[in-house]
Amino acid sequence: DNAQPKKPAWIRVKAPGGTGYNKTREIIRENRLSTVCEEAGCPNVGECWSQGHATMMIMGEICTRGCTFCNVATGKPQALDAFEPGRVAHAVATLGLKHVVITSVDRDDVADGGAEHFAQTIRAVRHRAPETTIEILTPDFLRCDASALEVVVAARPDVFNHNLETVPGLYPTVRPGARYFHSLRLLQRVKELDPSIFTKSGIMVGLGEDRQGVLQVMDDMRSADVDFLTIGQYLQPTPKHHSVERFVTPEEFASYEKSAYGKGFLMVSATPLTRSSYHAGDDFARLRDA
Ligand code: SF4
Ligand code: SF4
Repeated sequence: DNAQPKKPAWIRVKAPGGTGYNKTREIIRENRLSTVCEEAGCPNVGECWSQGHATMMIMGEICTRGCTFCNVATGKPQALDAFEPGRVAHAVATLGLKHVVITSVDRDDVADGGAEHFAQTIRAVRHRAPETTIEILTPDFLRCDASALEVVVAARPDVFNHNLETVPGLYPTVRPGARYFHSLRLLQRVKELDPSIFTKSGIMVGLGEDRQGVLQVMDDMRSADVDFLTIGQYLQPTPKHHSVERFVTPEEFASYEKSAYGKGFLMVSATPLTRSSYHAGDDFARLRDA
């Protein structure tokens, strides 16, 4: 196995703990919810949870895909839980969130890819917490017919996020089972279906891509009318996962951010610890109030 580059000083995170963190954990447990914060082993969990920000992961903890960067278990998922949308809504109301990010595993085993379940979750949160803005981070609905996406869009999330994850050349090793241009087209269709919904996408860097490739992904996203962009350093969850090819420096991230704004993105977050849900609420509030 090839040796991994040493973690640089800028990848330092707050250890989880404290009152806010514990309260968030309790609400998540009580409502029997999964979070991507825990499933993905996100380095920001200490910071985010202490402020009550947790990203809900719906439709179970087992995914039908096996992306090589991702810590979520692959296998045969359980049946969808019809009560889950209500529990998510209850948790959002209890946490008193201004903005919530809801994501899911991929459900290639369900005909509509879980579209209706997503839509129900959005509607349940709207009903219980009408002031909360809703951001969804969806799978690619690759094996579904066009109506799946329409069902999700019709539920009118405030932000529709779907991550491209990496440059197209790395899809076979990073995101097997997904198709770059399908994902790009998905984002474009959301905008066509409802231009009032903000669209968002993100990539990880440090997987072996080069700068030119990253700039090309930005251009592709803009040609699909994507509004928001996130770029963060890939971290290897376990030694079995895709290796970290390199640690991108904070200066390079700053330069990506500058290029991205130059290309017309409305909101960009590009730092080593950026994740697609990191500070999503603050960024969105800033944009709305601007
Ligand atoms: Fe959770 Fe996102 Fe924060 Fe990570 S960045 S802890 S996934 S809310
Ligand atoms: Fe992980 Fe999502 Fe890929 Fe499933 S589809 S393995 S949850 S990144």
